[in-house]
Order: sequence, then structure tokens, then C-alpha cells
Amino acid sequence: MKPVLLLDGYIDTPTELGVPPYISATVRYIAYVLDYYGLDYEYVPVCTWRRLAHSGELKSVFPAKQYGIVIIVGGTTVPGRYLSAYPVDAKELKKIARYFRNNTKIAVGPLAVASDRGKKFVSGVSTEDWDYVVWGDVEEFFFNFFRDLTYYRPGFYECETDFSILDKVLERANTDFTRLHPFYPHVIAEIETARGCDKRPSCIYCENSIKPRKVEFRSIESVRRELELLRGGLAAIRFGKQANILAYGGEDVGKAVYRPNPDAVSKLYEAAHDLKFEVIHSDNANPLTFKLFPAEAVKALEAIATYNTPYDTLALGIEDVSEKVVKMCNLKVGKEDALKVVAMIQEHGKGKIYAGINVLLGLPFQTTESLNELLDFLKELTQYKVRRINIRQVQVVKGSVLARLVEAKRLKIAKLKKNVIHSFRERVRKEIDLVLIKKVFPAGTIFDAVVEKETKEGSFARFLGSYPPVIFIPQKGLGFLAKVRVEIVDHTPRALVGKVVELL
Ligand code: SF4
Repeated sequence: MKPVLLLDGYIDTPTELGVPPYISATVRYIAYVLDYYGLDYEYVPVCTWRRLAHSGELKSVFPAKQYGIVIIVGGTTVPGRYLSAYPVDAKELKKIARYFRNNTKIAVGPLAVASDRGKKFVSGVSTEDWDYVVWGDVEEFFFNFFRDLTYYRPGFYECETDFSILDKVLERANTDFTRLHPFYPHVIAEIETARGCDKRPSCIYCENSIKPRKVEFRSIESVRRELELLRGGLAAIRFGKQANILAYGGEDVGKAVYRPNPDAVSKLYEAAHDLKFEVIHSDNANPLTFKLFPAEAVKALEAIATYNTPYDTLALGIEDVSEKVVKMCNLKVGKEDALKVVAMIQEHGKGKIYAGINVLLGLPFQTTESLNELLDFLKELTQYKVRRINIRQVQVVKGSVLARLVEAKRLKIAKLKKNVIHSFRERVRKEIDLVLIKKVFPAGTIFDAVVEKETKEGSFARFLGSYPPVIFIPQKGLGFLAKVRVEIVDHTPRALVGKVVELL
């Protein structure tokens, strides 16, 4: 009997991605705790679980009575568009809970607060189906739980801790389980560098906004230790589990964001470079850091560009540019500053980093007119090489100022008419996305990609990294996970068309 089954149901949040080809930090941290206590466990990705459920082999491969404790990690707070693998959904969670009805069951990750697939919002898992529901810095829960099984009573736990437990368990950690990831060896690990967000005051829709948590930076030694372990099997990482990569190791000098520490950022990326990772990418960066500390931010950017690999993206939470919305929602920067930041990234990113723009719809005070203003701003971006525009719908997150004000009926989520939103999205797609994708990946561009899906029409591939575009290859039979060198021959607003120039 194995004591633990660790089911990876894939996480997708703005600061952590664990949907293949990604592997989340959360699932890895639980595995490290299990290693720390020398516990025998089996890692199973939900793709494998689904395949066995479909073929009727679940009972023979994973008989419920074989395990003492079942842990599932998963859920999304902001659902994305998935190419082949997708996070566990509420129906599946119910079935899994039923399958393991006699086991101790622990549900972990955003599914503790929300589980979402596609457009339909599904409320979080309940402690009726799961003995323990855990959210936050989960290594704390598991560290205590496996030290003393009576430490916690069944229930909901939200954890917040510094990096000391992670550092302790990393001493005995093993990453061999990543070989069972369905995309292995074409897997990219999301790396955590900080907890908490340096921006004050917080954006009103953020869960940080009522009680901002203390900012903690992970030490270089801790990052390096985990990178060394991962390098045993994986070749791609993204410094993505943080609110603002430019703040790494920075200092609170009493401004709205931390003053960057370019040396610390440099050491972070250098550590990955020294270990010869083939993909070293990034995710969130706060545009306000560029505005308030331009010299230090540019130095940090140049440090990233020295050690990262091509087609890296810094995702900027611009959200909206109307003066009123920016002010009332505590957003980061206005229109002029946002354009300056994009220009700075283009100028100092050494041709390896692009800006990515996040937009939020439904923010209080947004109107049809403000959307027109936003559209004008996005059109101005077409003079730059911008990787992509991501349009999301605002969510009223528990613990946010927005949730409190909406509840008290003091603020309203903007009720934008469906046709207004639809026309906004369409215009972005047709008038902006196509121009941008052609600028970043012009016809004739050649790079390596991995086939993730095959259909009757052909194959769909992506490169490993931050915000990879889908590449349609009108060629069948390349095989799932085939590595190919492709040349770009055509574009659609959200995807590329490529031809294989070499099978790798
Ligand atoms: S920048 Fe704003 S939205 Fe992002 S983590 Fe910080 S407070 Fe939250």
C-alpha cells in the first residue's frame, strides 16, 4: 500500500500556471514535503487519470484501497484557453471524491475557492466531499500534517508562511516524479521568487487589497537549489510565481512600489543560465516600477535580457487607461506611462523580451466611452512589438476592497452590454492582434516547437515558454510531443501557420 496518491489536476491563476506543458510550484512543493518525510507516493496527472477512466482501467491501475491519503491539486481563478490539457473541473472533482469515498482526501489550490472550466463559474469544492481543503502556501499545511496526522482537524485551511519550510524540505527533495508528467521531457516549471505584492495601495480588485500580505523574497540559494534539482530532468523554467519580477530583492523606500535591485534580479536569471536551462522566461512585471524607478527598472530589465532566452514576455497589468478608472480602481499607470513602459521594454529588452498587455473588463466606472479610449490606446501599441493582449473579465474576489464595496452597494461592477464587449473584443482581434503577431513573428521566422495536439486537419504546436502562440501545421502524423523546427508562413489574429523545416 502506498500512503499517498498525488493527483495533479492542474492550476491556472494569474501568478501560477500548472497546465501542461507547465508544472506548478504547488504540486512540486507537496512532493518535496512527502520526500522530506520519506513517504512513498504516486504522482498522477489528471490527463492520465482521464485516459484510464475512459478505458475503464482506473480500478486496476489505481485501486482506491491501495492508498491511505489522496491529494488533488488544481483549479483556476482565471480560466484560460487550453490547447489539449485542461484543469480538473467541478464534475470530475465530484467523481474523484466519490471514487475515493473511504480515503482521507485533501483538495488543494484554487479549487479551494473556485473551480472553473470554460466560461461557467463553479463554486469551490466543499468540505463535505473533501476532508481538508487547503489554499495558499500549501507546504505549511503538509509539513505539519505529515509530521502529525492529528495536527489539523478536517476543514478549510488558508496558509500563509515565509520560505523557511520550503527551504527545509528542499534539502531532501527529489524531482523524479516530473518524469510522469504527460508532456515530459517538454515540461516547463513555474518558479516562485516572491510572496506578497510590493504595490501600495493594492489594486481594488486584488485579494491583497484589504489586508496586504508582507512581501517576502525567496533567497537566491533557495531558487538555485530547486533549479539544480529540476535540471536533472527539465530544461525549461519561468520566473512566474510572483506579482512583480522587477521588485525581486528590492527595497521599500516609502513609494508606491519597491525600488528594484538589478543585482538581485541579475543573480536570479544568472543562476538559471549557469545551469544551462534552454528556456528561461518571465511573467508578471509592474509597469509602475518603470514609472517610479526608470533607471533601476531598465537595469533590471537589461539583466533579465542578458540571461534569458528569446521570446520572453513581461506581462503588464495595464487593465484600463481611462483616468477615472485608473484612479478609482488604484490601477498602476495611465495611458502615456503605459506607452512609455512598452517603449522601454522594446528599447532595452535586447530583442528578447516583449511586453504583454493585460486588460480587465467590468471594472467600476468603465463605460462604452472608456472602452473606446482603451481601444485607441491598444491601437497605439501597434507601433511596437507587443507579444499579446490578454482580455479578462473582472472577478469579485473574496478579500478584495471591490468585493467589500460591491457588497455594501457602494460600487458596481460595470454592466457593459454584451454587444459592446463583443465588438471590443472583435476589434482588438481584427485591428490589433493581427498586426502585433505579424510584428513579433514575421513570415520566415524559424523556431523549435512541440506538437501538443493532432486533428484531421493537421497538427498544433507551441514553443515552451511564456505565452507561446499556437502554431497550426497543416501536416498530419507528426505525433504527440514531436519536436519540430517550424518556419512561419502565415498568421491569424491569435495563431501562426507554420511548415516543418526539420524534425528534431
Ligand atoms: S499589482 Fe495589483 S493586482 Fe497585482 S498583485 Fe499587486 S495589488 Fe494585486
